[in-house]
Amino acid sequence: MKDRIDSIIKLLPPRTKLVAVSKYHSSDKILQAYNLGQRIFAESRPQELKQKLEALPKDIQWHFIGHLQSNKLKMVLPYVSLIHSVDSVKLLDNIASWAHSNEKQINILLQLHIAQEESKQGFTEEELYSLLEIIQFHDRYKYINIQGLMSMATNTDDTNIIEQEFARIEAIFEDIKERYSDKLPNFKELSIGMSNDFLIAIRHGATLVRVGTMIFGERDY
Ligand SMILES: *Cc1c(COP(=O)(O)O)cnc(C)c1O
Repeated sequence: MKDRIDSIIKLLPPRTKLVAVSKYHSSDKILQAYNLGQRIFAESRPQELKQKLEALPKDIQWHFIGHLQSNKLKMVLPYVSLIHSVDSVKLLDNIASWAHSNEKQINILLQLHIAQEESKQGFTEEELYSLLEIIQFHDRYKYINIQGLMSMATNTDDTNIIEQEFARIEAIFEDIKERYSDKLPNFKELSIGMSNDFLIAIRHGATLVRVGTMIFGERDY
């Protein structure tokens, strides 16, 4: 595992952090990566996150990257430092009310849907811009700290398609960052790139790459 992590880190520019995607992998494997210095891990299922965070060192920074159901918020929000996968207004509103009642700032990324697959989650570009207009004026979102965007490219071997999609995401990210620099001063993170496309992602401004298989091997579903 050391060689795999080292070979990824060696390729990352200083602005890019490695998020080790540990979903479906054992706590033992996570601990192995932790002992090699890795501190950011990402999970996609609330129950699995709960078990792991009880078993593992307290200074791990947990990120959540899965589709989050509103009735699972209290299993996730108290424990994670960043939610990558806010993909609907309903979820955003529910996070906002939880954050408000618990007086806790919640760090989130808005998930942008760019890929060709219908199955992928997230806001379209138009939805994203109209949402940002609403958010900036609404008091109900004062506990929501929007740190940037998350997105996924189409699952394809055609690197031209991935390249085009990441370029598009990067352009939208940069545009929002500039337009909302007053209202969203913490909008700085671009979470793109997984095991098979993170090298393309870092050429397009990724500040967080979400790598699972390349670190831990294939997942056993
Ligand atoms: C599982 C997952 C990853 C990691 O994918 P790998 O191909 O194993 O690197 C990254 N991002 C999200 C949103 C995921 O669900």
